[in-house]
This record gives sequence, structure tokens and C-alpha cells, in this order.
Amino acid sequence: MGLIIRSSAIHAAGCYTTTPIRKGEHVAEYTGRHLSKEAADLAYEDSPITYLFGLGKGEIVIDGHCAAMFINHSCAANCETSEEDGRVWIKAVKHIAAGEEITYDYCLYDGGDDAATCNCGARSCRGTMYSGEEIRRRKAAAKKARARAAKKPPLKRKSRKSAILIEA
Ligand SMILES: [Zn+2]
Repeated sequence: MGLIIRSSAIHAAGCYTTTPIRKGEHVAEYTGRHLSKEAADLAYEDSPITYLFGLGKGEIVIDGHCAAMFINHSCAANCETSEEDGRVWIKAVKHIAAGEEITYDYCLYDGGDDAATCNCGARSCRGTMYSGEEIRRRKAAAKKARARAAKKPPLKRKSRKSAILIEA
């Protein structure tokens, strides 16, 4: 299997295969330093681009340093990620022809205010790289915030009488 990195219509650079890949095949491993989520948040606080992959429930992240970090998100991806004994693999979910771009669904979460807009161009595009679960969570949180704002009574302006004190 040969993977190459070149420019992509989805986002800056992408990862392409030079040979056909069978469904179920391991395409690449997502490797890099393992960091705690807190350490990664601190290290990339001001960085708009990160290549972090959350392991398990997300307490540990892999700070990508590999070909797999260039694999773009697609809402109609040809690969998926699979955690096997603490290692993360990108696996083909369909037959991929030589020359095709490798993609998987990022299913993002914990993105703060970032809209994580998706440009994958798929007909089934969600418009964002967040997972369906995260989209529902965000919608519910926004609805709650709106309800809270609506319930809040308007601030009353208290008129304060000015008093002039004269010291005797
Ligand atoms: Zn999309």
C-alpha cells in the first residue's frame, strides 16, 4: 500500500492511496505523542490547527505525527477509525481505488466555539465535522441558554435619590 500527501479540495493537504485498498484493510496507524487532555489543551490553547486524536473517553489524546494526521474528514468517508489495544487504526469501510483520497468521519467533540465547518462536498454533508451526538448536545445547550435568557426578568433601574449631607 502506498500513501501520499498532496493538496486536497477538502482541506489544504490530504492523504491519497496509490494502490487499491480492500474493504476492512488497515490503511494507516494514527501515531504520535500521547498527552493528557489538559496538557494538550494547554499546549495548543492558541493554535487554530491541531492534530489531536482522543483515545477512549478522551482523557488521553494522540498528538499526531504521521501520515494519518493528513487524512481529511468526510461525511461520506471511505474509512473509519478503530481502537485496538490502545492503538488507533484507519480502516477501509469500502473498496478504495488507486488515486482516491482517504477520508474518515472525524466525529468531533469538545470544540469550544469553533463551528468546525465541513467542506467535504458529500451529498450527505452535515455541514460540520462534529459528531451527530455532539450536534444534538450543542443544540440542546443553545436551547437551554435561550430559555434561560428569556426567563430572566428585565433589570429594574432603581432611582437613587441623591442626598446632600451637611455636616454640622
Ligand atoms: Zn461534510
